Amino acid sequence: MSVIVVGAGPTGLMLAGDLAEAGVEVTVLDKRAEESNLTRAFALHARTLELFDMRGIADEIVGQGYRVPEVRVALGSRDLVLDLRHPESRFPYVLTVQQARTESLLQRRAERLGARIQRGAEVTGIDQDEDGVTLTVRTADGPHTERGSYAVGADGAHSTVRERLGVGFSGRSYDTRIMLADVRLEQDLPRAVNPFVGTDGVALLPPYGDSWFRATVWDRTRQGVPLDQPVSLDELNDSLDRITGGQLTAAETRWSTRFLSERRQADHYRVGRVLLAGDAAHVHSPLGAMGMNTGIQDAANLAWKLVALERGWAPPWLLATYEAERHPVGRATLRVTDVILRIAVAPAPIRAVRPFLAPAALRFSKVSRTTRRLLSGLGVRYDRPAQVADTVSVGQRVDDLPLISEGERTRFHEVADPTRFTLLDATEAGCPAEAAEPWADRVRALRVRGELPEGADVLLVRPDGYAAWSGERPSADQVRTALNEWTGPP
Ligand SMILES: Cc1cc2nc3c(=O)[nH]c(=O)nc-3n(C[C@H](O)[C@H](O)[C@H](O)COP(=O)(O)OP(=O)(O)OC[C@H]3O[C@@H](n4cnc5c(N)ncnc54)[C@H](O)[C@@H]3O)c2cc1C
Repeated sequence: MSVIVVGAGPTGLMLAGDLAEAGVEVTVLDKRAEESNLTRAFALHARTLELFDMRGIADEIVGQGYRVPEVRVALGSRDLVLDLRHPESRFPYVLTVQQARTESLLQRRAERLGARIQRGAEVTGIDQDEDGVTLTVRTADGPHTERGSYAVGADGAHSTVRERLGVGFSGRSYDTRIMLADVRLEQDLPRAVNPFVGTDGVALLPPYGDSWFRATVWDRTRQGVPLDQPVSLDELNDSLDRITGGQLTAAETRWSTRFLSERRQADHYRVGRVLLAGDAAHVHSPLGAMGMNTGIQDAANLAWKLVALERGWAPPWLLATYEAERHPVGRATLRVTDVILRIAVAPAPIRAVRPFLAPAALRFSKVSRTTRRLLSGLGVRYDRPAQVADTVSVGQRVDDLPLISEGERTRFHEVADPTRFTLLDATEAGCPAEAAEPWADRVRALRVRGELPEGADVLLVRPDGYAAWSGERPSADQVRTALNEWTGPP
């Protein structure tokens, strides 16, 4: 079996790496001849970094980025702080790092693990039958076809795959034109995502840590400017001056663009043997910096399910859980970013009360915790598939638990395997781990010492780091039943 991934953006590259790591034959096709060096997304949130950690690549990207522990909103005379020091994660911050670096990291991993990445290859057509998918591909040498057992459209907002499948992309365009630029500022700003909220608009200025900042600017007075008009330094400074009350000036820019954001989601993430992920499945305003993160997390959710199909152990219901789990997450992302945008571009009466209401709301720890967990991805939880047993933790993200395994101190994300389930057995006798031996090709069973969640002493974790099943002193039969339900007979 082989998988064809259309699109070598962050979503496609993450997916290709995971498939290749499991030994699945994977080809990535991208119409661009060169790798992208565009900034676009500037931030990695905690859950994405945790997924990278489980793949052994988090420390490398953390070393290239800048750790920003809070959002500090300047609301005229007041500041409002949202703390991002997630107590539940090894990554208590948002990491600012250019998208091109994240892509480069994911590409190197995918290639090292054996994925074939073909650039200058544009997919123009797609056909599927009972056994596989045939893609028509245009290259400089002329058209040819590629065939795989499954195909994934990770080909961005204007996805050809989605269009050829006839899947609707429901939603609308916002009527808000946003300027984006990487700027070097004459002034310094706190180590925070720095939104300035003024009467004329909003400017978001997270730092890269080297005196450069990413400016995302919505200026109420510049909404009529054509999208193809370049952003000049004077224009940017005029907007920054009015929005920040004269506090900020950009000395230079190294990249800028102007765009109209949209709020759209694919009606379905799967048609037969073809799946959609990343921007091909959802697009929204960049406020919140969630687009790329959501796409990478789509890929982590999908990859192991395709691996299970390839290896022949996928229960018949498994692939359907991709849409069932990720479509609601995409919908929630659209909702959150929509609320942020609406607050940012609010009409005059709401603007007047915004400096008082927002700090009051965030003073409630529940509101700030929910906001923090939504933005970071740490709050994602999946519903239990009807076909598996209902245990306390099923569907929850598993913390990076401190563990002792074979006498060595370790932690869950260090021992987790993105291609296999992990069975953590903290019982004295170790019967659950023994019972799992016949499933060794798809379940890594570890006898550990350490505290597992919810009072359980055995925890089965999916390859994407979410709990599948847990038990307290379970019998070997109970363990076998759980493994059978999730991964089929040995
Ligand atoms: C101007 C701009 C600013 C942004 N700013 C932010 C931000 O601040 N924060 C944030 O989180 N997100 C931001 N985003 C969104 C973020 O960049 C995307 O969410 C992210 O790139 C999605 O990754 P992806 O892999 O799903 O798609 P993409 O990165 O779009 O990759 C899709 C790939 O598919 C290829 N492709 C397309 N069609 C075909 C075809 N027919 N055949 C073969 N290949 C094809 C393309 O060449 C491309 O390489 C921004 C996006 C834009 C456009």
